[in-house]
Amino acid sequence: MAKKRLGIFGGTFDPPHVGHLILAAEARDQLGLDCTIWVLTPNPPHKQGKEISSIEDRLAMVELAIQDDEDFSLSYVDIDRPGPHYSVDTVSILKQQYPDQELFYLMGGDSLQDLPHWYRVSEFLNILDGIGAMRRPGDEIDQTALFNQLPQLEDKLNFVTAPLLEISAEQIRRRASTGHAYRYYLLPRIYRYISEKMIYQS
Ligand code: ATP
Repeated sequence: MAKKRLGIFGGTFDPPHVGHLILAAEARDQLGLDCTIWVLTPNPPHKQGKEISSIEDRLAMVELAIQDDEDFSLSYVDIDRPGPHYSVDTVSILKQQYPDQELFYLMGGDSLQDLPHWYRVSEFLNILDGIGAMRRPGDEIDQTALFNQLPQLEDKLNFVTAPLLEISAEQIRRRASTGHAYRYYLLPRIYRYISEKMIYQS
């Protein structure tokens, strides 16, 4: 029997937006994922010094993002352990929790471009069965250079094709805090949550 395929989608999700949902849904479709767990990172090492919304608000928003989709679930793997939350440790714990499944890590093109700088990246790649990457406007992916730096990546990298989405959480936070339109970059219930709780008002 073929092994089940589990997607792992790590992020800050401040807030989760339609770019995240499209990436997760296209990856499921194109890579044949059975389930995808969304891993909320409390304090990402690469975002130190940046202001991040509370873990409670981000948890509530990820729950709102995935609640209609039975193939998506929220993982507390990084919330339940002390930081720093490096992805290599996250996937190693998930491998122990799901020893019989193939693990596919999902990311945008900006993260892929940065991958050679990730902490203990070889170990991270060795644990995984695949990477699902969706291009992002402005990313600069040089596949040859990436494969030279990370030889294990060549057999594991799968591009998830989708229209380029110029949507980022940072842009949504900025628009919300400066009174510009941001509503339709989000699911309606997440827009409601943000506007009622005035999460991004300075
Ligand atoms: P911020 O703008 O605050 O840095 P973000 O929008 O990049 O946030 P994250 O939670 O940091 O969101 O992203 C989680 C993952 O989703 C990352 O791998 C990121 O590359 C990917 N991602 C986010 N937005 C998009 C998008 N529009 N297209 C493709 N991938 C995306």
